[in-house]
Amino acid sequence: MYAHSVRATIGLVFVVLMLIGGLSVAVSLWATQAQQYNALLINLAGRQRALSQKTAQEAWLGLWKGQDPRYLAQMHTTAHQFEEGLRALMDGGQLTYAGTTVSVPPATNPAFRTALEGVQATWESLHQAAHAVLENEPGSPAFTQGVTDLERLSRVILEEMDEAVRLYQAAAEGRMARLRWAQLAFLVSGGLTLALGYGLILVQVLRPISALKIAIRRMGQGDLDYPVGVRVRNELGQLAEAFEDMQRRIKEQTKELRLRSTALEAAADAIVITDRDGIIQWVNPAFTALTGYTPEEVIGQTMRLVKSGQHDRAFYRQLWETILSGQVWRGEVVNRRKDGSLYDIENIITPVRAASGEITHFVAIERDITERKRMEGKLREANLQLQAALSAKDEMIANVSHELRTPLTLINGYVQLLRGAVLGPLTAEQERAVQVMHRQGERLAFMIDRLLMLQSISPNVLQRVTLDLDLWLQQTVQPWEVRVAGTGIELRLEVSSPLPPLQADPNFLGHVVENLLDNAVKFSPNGGVVQVRAWAERDQVIIAVSDQGIGIPPDKVGRVFERFYQVDGSISRRFGGMGIGLALCKAIVAAHGGRIWAESVGEGRGSTFYVALPLASRQT
Ligand code: ADP
Repeated sequence: MYAHSVRATIGLVFVVLMLIGGLSVAVSLWATQAQQYNALLINLAGRQRALSQKTAQEAWLGLWKGQDPRYLAQMHTTAHQFEEGLRALMDGGQLTYAGTTVSVPPATNPAFRTALEGVQATWESLHQAAHAVLENEPGSPAFTQGVTDLERLSRVILEEMDEAVRLYQAAAEGRMARLRWAQLAFLVSGGLTLALGYGLILVQVLRPISALKIAIRRMGQGDLDYPVGVRVRNELGQLAEAFEDMQRRIKEQTKELRLRSTALEAAADAIVITDRDGIIQWVNPAFTALTGYTPEEVIGQTMRLVKSGQHDRAFYRQLWETILSGQVWRGEVVNRRKDGSLYDIENIITPVRAASGEITHFVAIERDITERKRMEGKLREANLQLQAALSAKDEMIANVSHELRTPLTLINGYVQLLRGAVLGPLTAEQERAVQVMHRQGERLAFMIDRLLMLQSISPNVLQRVTLDLDLWLQQTVQPWEVRVAGTGIELRLEVSSPLPPLQADPNFLGHVVENLLDNAVKFSPNGGVVQVRAWAERDQVIIAVSDQGIGIPPDKVGRVFERFYQVDGSISRRFGGMGIGLALCKAIVAAHGGRIWAESVGEGRGSTFYVALPLASRQT
């Protein structure tokens, strides 16, 4: 997708610039070299002209000095120099003169070369003419011809040399003009490349960088919505995309963080964040409301600020040991407000770990329980009072029962004597009255006995034996066959054998079953089935007594075990009783380590009473 890369863009611009720069330097070097060559050539041409004139001059001088052979020799040397120079100009090569050696390139321009060939032909004629002047008898035809030729040719050769140089210069100027054009072209294309390259780098690199720079600065100032707007197809485009992605993620995270921090701010419980050393870093408004300290007053301080002096050193040591070991500390703490008053909190301090697992902070959530504590104190006080009242009542019942029992025993004793006519014969009317006294006296004694039993029952008074429950139940239920005869009640005993042996006090347990049967019969005015069932369930034995009598309203079913509680006073009065039987049953079953409860589908639809007794292993 990213066809261009910044490196490729800059590389391309650089390579093109290097190419243009290189070519431009090459052309300049070439031009310089060409100019040097031109100068050399013009210099050489000048030298050739001088040499040609010197040759002619030496011929004249030799003639003037009476054809002195020294001038002939000198002219030879000069002619030789001229020829060497001309050869070098035409065919190129090394040329040494005036103490330096120069390298001369061969003449490649055809016009220049032709002109030089013309010069060479003239030179040869001039050379011959000089010889003719110096070597022939003055006045001879050859001498005369030589003088004429020398004079003419020394002029011609000058003109020809000039023409050759002119031709060369024309060619050289044309070449130089082309080179200048080439230089100009390179300069222009270099400039264009530079401008284009700058434009390319501006669009592809510089603008994206400055856009990114602005976006980063804006993000640093908290503006997470600022669009980067870089759409180039290179690494900077990728960078911008990655930046936008990061911006998006930071935005989401910021939103989430903002929600969390708003939640912390709004929390009803005081929240304190401290560093590892317990220095407060942050508190929420609930903390200020609770303690009276503003964040500015507590940040940088430790929680010692709210210490009340109500806890000892060991308390705080245990707290610190717990949280420094990475565990959560929970507990109730009494702290002191800014105004000096005390407050109770339920404190949960949790260590906060960094990604490396190291504990860096602690967060404490403090719930104000001052009010609850006050209420608890009141409740405790009320409970104590109630407890005292209850035990006073129990004591009174025990005392009264006890006090009643002695005179009642005496009364019943005398009634017995009366009944047995030990104190003299009774009239029929007196006998009936004594019978009533006897029945009611027995009933009263029974009730007082139950009250006394209720007061005294505890696991210690039980005399446990191993009971064969099946047999024991048969023996307990059987007498009831006689008692229900004629009431329209059908009595059933159903034991799912074999039942495991049970450790129980048969006397007390007998009271329970008797009482349940008594109630079942008593509250079944229209007859029906009274059923006693027993079965083993896990590690307990359950005895259930059910009837089809008046039933118990669902909201009262749990209360029938309270002392002196009767569902409906008028009905119970009709049936007799004083609401103590089931309370006694409950106490006896509890002393056995068991549980008693009742179920009833509703009024008029019978009730079932269950007694669950633990088997040997669980008994206390
Ligand atoms: P009471 O001496 O009054 O029978 P109990 O403690 O034995 O005292 O019973 C308490 C109350 O529970 C009774 O007054 C009666 O209202 C209710 N109750 C007990 N057993 C039954 C039952 N089998 N059917 C309906 N109500 C019952």
